[in-house]
Amino acid sequence: MTDSAHTPVHAGEARPVEDEDYGLETPLAGHPEPLPHVVVVGGGFAGMAVVKALQDAPVRITLIDRRVYNTFQPLLYQVATGGLNPGDVTYFLRGLRLKQKNVHVVHEHLVEADHQAKKIRLLNDHWVSYDYLVVTAGVTTNFFGTPGAKEYAFPMYSRSQAMRIRDNLFIRLEKAAKSKRLDDGLRVVVVGGGATGVEVAGALAELRTAGLAPAYPEIHGDAFEVKIVQRGGEILKAFAPQLRAYAAKELSRRGVSLHLGAGVAAVERDAVVLTDGKRIHADLTVWSAGVHPHEEVSDWGLPQDKGGRIKVGDDLQVEGLPGVFAAGDIAVSPSGLPQLAQPAIQGGTVVGRNIKALLEGRPLEELRYVDKGTMAVIGRRAAIAEINLPGGKALRITKGLAWLVWLFVHIMSLIGPRNRVTTLAGLVTRYGFPFHRRPIPIVGDVPTVRPPKPGT
Ligand SMILES: Cc1cc2nc3c(=O)[nH]c(=O)nc-3n(C[C@H](O)[C@H](O)[C@H](O)COP(=O)(O)OP(=O)(O)OC[C@H]3O[C@@H](n4cnc5c(N)ncnc54)[C@H](O)[C@@H]3O)c2cc1C
Repeated sequence: MTDSAHTPVHAGEARPVEDEDYGLETPLAGHPEPLPHVVVVGGGFAGMAVVKALQDAPVRITLIDRRVYNTFQPLLYQVATGGLNPGDVTYFLRGLRLKQKNVHVVHEHLVEADHQAKKIRLLNDHWVSYDYLVVTAGVTTNFFGTPGAKEYAFPMYSRSQAMRIRDNLFIRLEKAAKSKRLDDGLRVVVVGGGATGVEVAGALAELRTAGLAPAYPEIHGDAFEVKIVQRGGEILKAFAPQLRAYAAKELSRRGVSLHLGAGVAAVERDAVVLTDGKRIHADLTVWSAGVHPHEEVSDWGLPQDKGGRIKVGDDLQVEGLPGVFAAGDIAVSPSGLPQLAQPAIQGGTVVGRNIKALLEGRPLEELRYVDKGTMAVIGRRAAIAEINLPGGKALRITKGLAWLVWLFVHIMSLIGPRNRVTTLAGLVTRYGFPFHRRPIPIVGDVPTVRPPKPGT
């Protein structure tokens, strides 16, 4: 690292580009010219797809992420509810280097960009120059300014947040087990009745019935509740009415109660207050109600829409900035794609192909999103799936068959054979064995009981 790396710099101040610090100076042995530099910010679904699409391209890629791993968010709720280990749903980004030599992984955070000089500044004050920039930094939890939500509700956007939910689940259960009060238990309120809210509530119900109720005889049955609060009149808006009805029936059969038609006005330490004035007791509030872009995106010199997402064309190039792309949840294109894994993956692949097209002087292609369908799991052999067929028809399935499709799709979408095997084992243990109906959950961390240190 050069000395200048330790000197703070200010926006726009010229400073030598320090790519060599990241070991990027000799990308391919014997190549006469330094290869074009593609900088990808964010190693999520979209960023990984960009890197993969450029595997054989004559470029050097720097993948920058503030975490050292990629997170498979669709299964985070399994970590939060003791069904999977955190490592099962995360992938070590530097592991990419084992297969792809033209990528360099940097553990850093994008702070600002100077698009005229074609460089970005990282939190360590390094400026990194780019020939092509791809912003795939995703989004984060949106509390919609709800009083108390940030302080008392538990979001589930990262691996550490999922583990925090799991730890708190067990901390509160142990507390309730020690309490002498009969009504002391665990009341979980899940805010948001979309696929994530339904999945987390379903998994909690499964956990309660299959594992925790027998493990905690001290806790009175009624004192362990799971509720979903949803502003709209129905859960799972994105699904067909018959699938929504099936999901609502299955949730109720599993003891999950639905509070529909009122939003959350405030979250308190031990309650959720609804917009209709009702107060629901909550020992644990899980927030799965919405997302928005990170606040810092406004420092990146990119055009944003009213919601803060980066405005791109259908070729995913940022408006007014040739050679700069954005894809995934953070980007908004004229076609208005949903903020889901598939549009992010397909978008990342198109960005990779468009960078190759620019290198070869070919016209850029537009993202033609192929919506393969959507699915959600409620619990053991209960899921819903809507699979889009060629010709505009949709196949709608429920129960065990939908669960098997869900299992297959999720296992195949994970990165790396190790994660596929461990996740398959975890999910089959949790849901799959007819003769093993009471799987022991993966326990969270509860503070150790120790005698006080002498003198304290
Ligand atoms: C709990 C949950 C469940 C979900 N379930 C489903 C589902 O079942 N099906 C589905 O299709 N979609 C689901 N989604 C949505 C899906 O996960 C997202 O649409 C997808 O992750 C978007 O991909 P992305 O690449 O845009 O962003 P992400 O995958 O979020 O990746 C963004 C990356 O950027 C990095 N980053 C952020 N800021 C910076 C910075 N300043 N500098 C450097 N790096 C940065 C982050 O660390 C992260 O690795 C779910 C999301 C959540 C939270």
